[in-house]
Amino acid sequence: VGYRAPIDRIRFSLDETAELAADIALGNAGDLSSELVSEILYEAARFAGGQLAPQNVPGDRIGSRLADGKVSTPPGWPAIYKAWAGAGWNGVDLAAEWGGMGLPTRMATATMEMWTSACMSFALGPVLTQGAVDTLEKHASEALKALYLPKLVSGEWTATMNLTESQAGSDLGALRTRAIASGDGTYHITGNKIYITYGEHDLTENIIHLVLARLPDAPPGTKGISLFLVPKFLLNPDGSPGERNDVLCTGLEHKLGIHASPTCSIAYGEEGGAIGWLVGEENRGLACMFTMMNKARLFTGLQGVAIAERAYQQALAFAKTRRQGRASGTPASEMSPILAHPDVRRNLMTMRALTSAARAIAHQAALAIDHAQDMRDAERARKAEELAGLLTPITKAYCSDVGVDVTSLGIQIHGGMGYVEETGAAQHFRDARITPIYEGTNGIQAIDLVIRKVLRPGSTLADEVIDGFRAIGVATRDETVPDFGQLGPIVIDAADALREATDWLRLHQSDGDALLASATPYLRLFAVTSGAAYLAKGALRAARRQAGGDSSPVLAEVIADARFYSENVAVGAVGLAMTVMTGSVPPLEHFAD
Ligand SMILES: Cc1cc2nc3c(=O)[nH]c(=O)nc-3n(C[C@H](O)[C@H](O)[C@H](O)COP(=O)(O)OP(=O)(O)OC[C@H]3O[C@@H](n4cnc5c(N)ncnc54)[C@H](O)[C@@H]3O)c2cc1C
Repeated sequence: VGYRAPIDRIRFSLDETAELAADIALGNAGDLSSELVSEILYEAARFAGGQLAPQNVPGDRIGSRLADGKVSTPPGWPAIYKAWAGAGWNGVDLAAEWGGMGLPTRMATATMEMWTSACMSFALGPVLTQGAVDTLEKHASEALKALYLPKLVSGEWTATMNLTESQAGSDLGALRTRAIASGDGTYHITGNKIYITYGEHDLTENIIHLVLARLPDAPPGTKGISLFLVPKFLLNPDGSPGERNDVLCTGLEHKLGIHASPTCSIAYGEEGGAIGWLVGEENRGLACMFTMMNKARLFTGLQGVAIAERAYQQALAFAKTRRQGRASGTPASEMSPILAHPDVRRNLMTMRALTSAARAIAHQAALAIDHAQDMRDAERARKAEELAGLLTPITKAYCSDVGVDVTSLGIQIHGGMGYVEETGAAQHFRDARITPIYEGTNGIQAIDLVIRKVLRPGSTLADEVIDGFRAIGVATRDETVPDFGQLGPIVIDAADALREATDWLRLHQSDGDALLASATPYLRLFAVTSGAAYLAKGALRAARRQAGGDSSPVLAEVIADARFYSENVAVGAVGLAMTVMTGSVPPLEHFAD
């Protein structure tokens, strides 16, 4: 089954839930016009559905291969990548100063969803390149920017993010890669990194590694980590790739999914030291890397949305053709398509509503990132930055979990045909499974949300956000649209439950272990409430458009998803709040040793 980008759904979410239409009307989106949004979404959908989607299954079956330190991506990928980058798709929200389109991050979120739905293994490389561009733009010297940014923005070269070592996964304080100043402004880097996505490949002639390493006199732990730029090929004076740097791919992982995305072990300095350049200040590397992480985490959450969308399309197509049993009203001589069975419809609605809620959350995070960059109103930008910080762990963790849940439901709808590889339903599940793990595991995201965001000393942001959710619930309840069902009251109840759980966290601030044990259900509670509130906001807008005579089919879908999500998912918020407030006791009492 192919992939058809859900342009109308994405557009509605961008325009109405994430305020893109309003920002365009107010002149807050640069040169972006409504027509340009349509054109970009249409062209991206065409490339994703026509060129990338057919690569997904062969990419999975063939995978990337390593021989003599060189990695080959599946046949045809270098040409497709060239066409993709040549069309300017790498630079959607990257600075025009360096050759990008300079559009809002919301636009890049929309196009990235399409690349990822079409072929997640392909889309992973650009995620890292774009994150590296953000980091270099903010922290690198002018000289490094001038040499590297134009090629990275155009996608002529790709970039990587080198954090992980075998003893340093979630705990980056344990990393051991060394950097020693050479005295000429460069550094010699030695060490071994693992799990480096697109660490080596044949798509571009150069690969730019961003590497975390320790200087000899660095303080221990995370305060002693610096960031270095280490190119695969050193540059000639004219900026073209020249001599090979001492960077080698020593292995490729065999893994559950994303087979075409090369996950590399990289050795730096086996022959004397790879040459690197410091990015940002010494010992401030983690802070620099965090610039990359906000966007990378948004895009990781988005991977969940994207793959959920693909799995939904495939399951719906299957449910229309597979015949089993007789649904009510079917003649005795016939079998019904399984789509006719109420339980199959429930599963499909669950897939669609979860995907819509996750997309709405990701678009809100992108909106916050956009407003944080708009310096015309410094106070709004500061608040938006804080909001982006709050929504980032929620987006990363919840949307990636949704990806796993929805792809699993996709298999369920296929029955046995989902479990065998033939239909491709299993691939979506296998591909999605990494997303809760990398870019900071979802457990670590939950801890970040609770400790660094919600309980940040002096911050009232969480309360303001919860008040906003409640206000949406009240507005939805007061609108009395029959198709809303219990949407408004459920959003109100969820917001109240989230408020109670947030007060509980504050009361238990001194009980560190209880907070840590409650973090995951708290993140889920926050996410489920956000999802319901953002979908309700969209439903309100959709109902008003319908009342004004707009009969676009997307409006009824938006309202149906909001109602279904609230009545089937967000109703769980009250229970989740109870888990937060009482549920930390069981894990703390067990497995003492
Ligand atoms: C396919 C793939 C691609 C990747 N790409 C990259 C890449 O491009 N660049 C890169 O640098 N890395 C990459 N990674 C590494 C990835 O980011 C790490 O695997 C991840 O951060 C988790 O680290 P770990 O595997 O060592 O697990 P661990 O840190 O050992 O965690 C194991 C479990 O313990 C939990 N845990 C650990 N510490 C805590 C704590 N303090 N509190 C609560 N729970 C905790 C975790 O949540 C997890 O469930 C990739 C990994 C894979 C598999």
